[in-house]
Amino acid sequence: MFEERISRARNRMEELGVDTLLLSVGADLPYFTGYTAMPLERLTMLVLPQDGEATLVVPALEAPRVEERPEAFALRPWGETEDPVAIVAGLAGRPARAAIGDRTWATFLLGLEEALPATAFVAASRVTGPLRAQKDAAEIEALRAAARVVDAVALAMRERPFAGRTEADISRELVDRMLEGGHERANFAIVASGPNAASPHHEPGERVVELGDSVVCDFGGTMAGYCSDITRTFVVGQPSADLVDLYDVLFEAQEQAVRAARIGVSCEAVDAAARSVIAAAGYGDYFIHRTGHGIGLEEHEDPYLVSGNATPLAPGHAFSVEPGIYLPGRCGARIEDIVVAMETGPERLNEAPRELAVVG
Ligand code: ZN
Ligand code: ZN
Ligand code: ZN
Repeated sequence: MFEERISRARNRMEELGVDTLLLSVGADLPYFTGYTAMPLERLTMLVLPQDGEATLVVPALEAPRVEERPEAFALRPWGETEDPVAIVAGLAGRPARAAIGDRTWATFLLGLEEALPATAFVAASRVTGPLRAQKDAAEIEALRAAARVVDAVALAMRERPFAGRTEADISRELVDRMLEGGHERANFAIVASGPNAASPHHEPGERVVELGDSVVCDFGGTMAGYCSDITRTFVVGQPSADLVDLYDVLFEAQEQAVRAARIGVSCEAVDAAARSVIAAAGYGDYFIHRTGHGIGLEEHEDPYLVSGNATPLAPGHAFSVEPGIYLPGRCGARIEDIVVAMETGPERLNEAPRELAVVG
């Protein structure tokens, strides 16, 4: 698997005129090596020449954590008195153009720029983004398994009343339930109630949820390396006529965007499918973010469903579809599912009911 991914990277490097790929901390490294580097002042870097052997340069004390895969890459542990930047520069050859991992610490890039003065550096995501965006069958299965966990959490949240509890308390319940469900990590658990629901990335705090509030719960974590991400909107007691109207529009917008997400359709057309429903109902100014983002080893990665992104959806593209409507100072709502572009059409990985959930 890693060999095959490396060979696809090499093809893309050739297309882009990239001589060497340099990957440090971030999700690109485990994608190609199975190894996740700790974010340390000691450099870890995969040096992948367009032709020639790939080498993982790793601090000697971290080397025991690396599962060796000699068919994919050689290992070059470095000792405490060696200069890892010089080692990487030596292995890189004299590339005219090198692609360096987007999350690489600036201090290492600055060192490499000094060591390789004739090299032009570009972002590695140009090489890796499109490769990682198209998931294989095992990756889709991992996303499905993670989605099932948060689906169950979304359903279970209907059982306990929200009223009288703080957002922070409800957020903790989301985290606990994700971990109980088998996630190794909870990445975020947004709980935004009442007027706070108008802020898409609200930090859950000490506000006490009241009767009549809409409560946006957006949460996700990591399981077997792959991420989950779901949003459901709850209402405490019977919803107002305004909220029902807003939510009907949102529900239809999300549905239309999911249906639009077929292979060959551009990312921006999927965004437009949601946006046009919301705009036609008069809420256009209150949908203040893109419709979705790719998901995989990272919560946010290619492809982005946003106006201006003409990339056509391809088999295995996995992304969120998450329109929202936010009325400042009043309320808000969002519906989010993870969707995969399959040969047979769009497949939603999240199946928890997406109707407005009435809670106590
Ligand atoms: Zn978000
Ligand atoms: Zn989300
Ligand atoms: Zn999302």
